[in-house]
Amino acid sequence: MKFLLPVLASCCLLAPSFAAPPPPNIVIFLVDDMGIMDTSVPFLTDAAGKPERYPLNDFYRTPNMERLAARGIRFNNFCAMSVCSPTRASIMTGQNAARHRTTNWISPDSNNAGPHGPPQWNWKGLTKGDVTLPRLLQASGYRTIHVGKGHFGSRESEGAEPRNLGFVVNVAGAANGAPGSYYGRQNYGNPVNGKAGRIPGNAVPGLEKYHGTDTFLSEALTLEANARVGDAVKAGQPFFLYFAHYAVHRPFNSDPRFAAHYQGSGKPPEAQAFATLVEGMDKSLGDLLDHLDRLGVAENTLILFLGDNGSDAPLGDPHAIASAAPLRGMKGSHYEGGMRVPFIAAWAKAGASTAHQKRLPIPAGAIQRQLASVEDLFPTVLALTGAAIPQGHIVDGARLDMLLSGKPDANRRETFLMHYPHSPHRSDYWSSYRDGAWKVIYHYFPSKVSGDSHYQLFHLAQDPSESNNLATAEPAKLRQMMEALMAKLAEDAALFPVADDHLTPVKPQLP
Ligand code: CA
Repeated sequence: MKFLLPVLASCCLLAPSFAAPPPPNIVIFLVDDMGIMDTSVPFLTDAAGKPERYPLNDFYRTPNMERLAARGIRFNNFCAMSVCSPTRASIMTGQNAARHRTTNWISPDSNNAGPHGPPQWNWKGLTKGDVTLPRLLQASGYRTIHVGKGHFGSRESEGAEPRNLGFVVNVAGAANGAPGSYYGRQNYGNPVNGKAGRIPGNAVPGLEKYHGTDTFLSEALTLEANARVGDAVKAGQPFFLYFAHYAVHRPFNSDPRFAAHYQGSGKPPEAQAFATLVEGMDKSLGDLLDHLDRLGVAENTLILFLGDNGSDAPLGDPHAIASAAPLRGMKGSHYEGGMRVPFIAAWAKAGASTAHQKRLPIPAGAIQRQLASVEDLFPTVLALTGAAIPQGHIVDGARLDMLLSGKPDANRRETFLMHYPHSPHRSDYWSSYRDGAWKVIYHYFPSKVSGDSHYQLFHLAQDPSESNNLATAEPAKLRQMMEALMAKLAEDAALFPVADDHLTPVKPQLP
């Protein structure tokens, strides 16, 4: 994972130079804690591949996601790690969390491995020496812009500051994983009249000019993102915008601009507030698309829209705020509701016959059903921009070009590892591994959740809601999947939970 800067410099000299046409602009639009059902865009499909609408699709209002989906392709089998920081580090490095070892969300001030978690997991996160997507793009001539939530490293670590990771511009990014408040009148969690916010550590930095105003956090970030993109265009520089909204993560502050849309819904107040956060995020997407169009760069700007993990819910009442149903589980879970996220890829203005769109044609309104993950963005973006992956940097992801063009990719491994040697979340200390339609979950410490067994085995095509555990009925498949899971963990040099002595690794066992 570590990398020597002199090698980086020499590798980047090998990257092609950019004459005409200018390289494509890249936007990663990342929404925090947005699950696959938290939108009016239907992602899930029937067996024939036709999108299926559910009541939640009619509850949420995301017209700009609809607009983006109509211009491009959406994936219904796109996986993220089921908590924040692992996904973010995977986007930055192209690596699986087992390999980069940020396997849990980063608590800004402490090592939250969990009582039996590996104490040496990478809780300080990314460092100045790491190979990251923005660092490579910056070396290729891009203006690298970070707007929104960082959560790449703990408070005193290098990763707390996105500018240490290759971003030239950082607006509002720090160690915190949530905003103290979405309200400008509450200074986004910073002190108001000398009185600290409810969670002082979650105060959002860098937006002082909006303090004391009615500007909702998602709006302030959008204004800043658009201004920084405008600066890059004015300077004639290609840009990489990593726009990581704090929305739609807790706290569920109602956005007054949209509250009336949900008042008659009969849903609990927090569910209504959550829906306003979703709609405010969506307005941000629309504002960005309009701004790119006005700047004249939309046809050469690729938008990669995604969530970082499944949506959140209070313990005991999974439907009180959001739900991934018909998928099972939510944020933090070993079920698909935790790790299946919305993903849309589109040119900001589609259908233009630019060199970039000819090179990467994205069919309008298409749905891709093949398995892909957050690890794939790193190699995909680098290939598209001509930036080289430095020698010695291992990438777990694979390029998405073929899938983005709507075609099946027969040469692609359809596998996804999620390694979570931690608690405390809804299900503790587990690893899951997907291979095509099959999914195995290994519980290091069997519990009621797993029926006091180490193993759960599901066939997702026949049983998308993971309700029929086939671990006993399919012993040969279980063994094969466990062998593949253990091989991948070994390949990534994964860290394991520890026994009561807090030292001895507890490794998975074959059935
Ligand atoms: Ca998250």
